[in-house]
Amino acid sequence: MLEPDAARARILAALEDVAPLPPERVSLAEALGRALAEPVLAPRALPPFDSSQMDGYALRAADARAPGARLRVAFEVYAGSVPPPLPEGACCRIFTGAPVPAGADAVEMQEEVARQGAFARFRRAAEPGRFVRPAGSDLALGAVALEAGAAVDAGATGLAAALGRTELAVYRRPRVGLLATGDELVPVDRPPAAGQILDSNSHALAAACREAGAVPLLLPFARDERGSLRRALAAARGLDALVSTGGVSVGEKDLVKEAVEAAGARLDFWKVAMKPGKPVAFGRWGRTAVFGLPGNPASALVTFELFVRPALRRLAGLPGTGRVRLPARLAEPASKPAGLTHFLRARATVRAGQLWVEPLRSQASGHLTSVTGFEALAVLPSAATRLRRGAAVEAILLAPPREP
Ligand code: AMP
Ligand code: MG
Repeated sequence: MLEPDAARARILAALEDVAPLPPERVSLAEALGRALAEPVLAPRALPPFDSSQMDGYALRAADARAPGARLRVAFEVYAGSVPPPLPEGACCRIFTGAPVPAGADAVEMQEEVARQGAFARFRRAAEPGRFVRPAGSDLALGAVALEAGAAVDAGATGLAAALGRTELAVYRRPRVGLLATGDELVPVDRPPAAGQILDSNSHALAAACREAGAVPLLLPFARDERGSLRRALAAARGLDALVSTGGVSVGEKDLVKEAVEAAGARLDFWKVAMKPGKPVAFGRWGRTAVFGLPGNPASALVTFELFVRPALRRLAGLPGTGRVRLPARLAEPASKPAGLTHFLRARATVRAGQLWVEPLRSQASGHLTSVTGFEALAVLPSAATRLRRGAAVEAILLAPPREP
């Protein structure tokens, strides 16, 4: 059976011809979290002019070579104003961010200057360049400010804005169809009859899609019946990805695999050597990536995390999984049969510089209370059977560890 890491590698390789999706120009606000499709170049230098780093006095350093120099204060220059050239032998009052006047080559902070009426006395010797931010010292005209492929964060937004950009070219967000399957399902806004349950997977996976930078679309449910599945799949045509839940196991009514193949999808695999989520299918349907996830809520979320999320990021041009995988220690003993890699939902804590993972009490894949309240997936290797407390494992961090 396919190992989880190999399955993810196969998925990413299979998306090579469609990822990243085409770029689009969007507002700075819309670009947050997305990958730049082109580098951002500097159409102006930063800072654009020599400016003061301090509130103080601008002068020619040569006029205050020794402590105690006394210079006439010729004028004041505020941020946003344009000063005249500095007269010979004079200094000027200056404030942070204000242009340094022509002629001046240094600024002294006001704490080092005694004001005496129209004069200023410099307590220490001036140094050329001190407290002056030279034009272009942050970024030269024409330089690459942001590399193509970089994810836009708050800082990148600020840098782009400082360069006068109101829009950025980023890769399109993947549009993901979510298809819940099962005769027992009822939409969350309807009362369930006997034997029915509310469809929670669509909502959990929609949230997981948004978290991964994708746009989810809830498709009409499919019944456990060939015709219903066929009609539901038709609604997903042309999307970047289709994620179904339920119906991929070996039960008599598990028809998803058959239905997507009948619709013309090519399945690459439908089983991975892991728990939860052994039945999980992946394939391509034209340009659409197709994922068949199990119906149990925890299995659906864990398989989404391990397989769908990296695929969506690849489609969006974002690097890697966006998660760190770190060595950790197991806070509780664990045992399992050999043969499958187990991914346990676990609390993560750092104690004395060591990452600890404590698996949640319930790992039942059908329980809804244990699909929240954890920061990590503890990875128990396929061959492992008994792991003592303190055993070295890997942890996939989904959120920052807790404060101890
Ligand atoms: P299946 O994979 O279709 O055999 O479903 C496994 C379990 O997950 C069953 O108990 C289903 O009722 C449950 N399940 C399937 N789809 C959903 C859904 N959309 N929301 C919540 N539970 C579901
Ligand atoms: Mg089912």
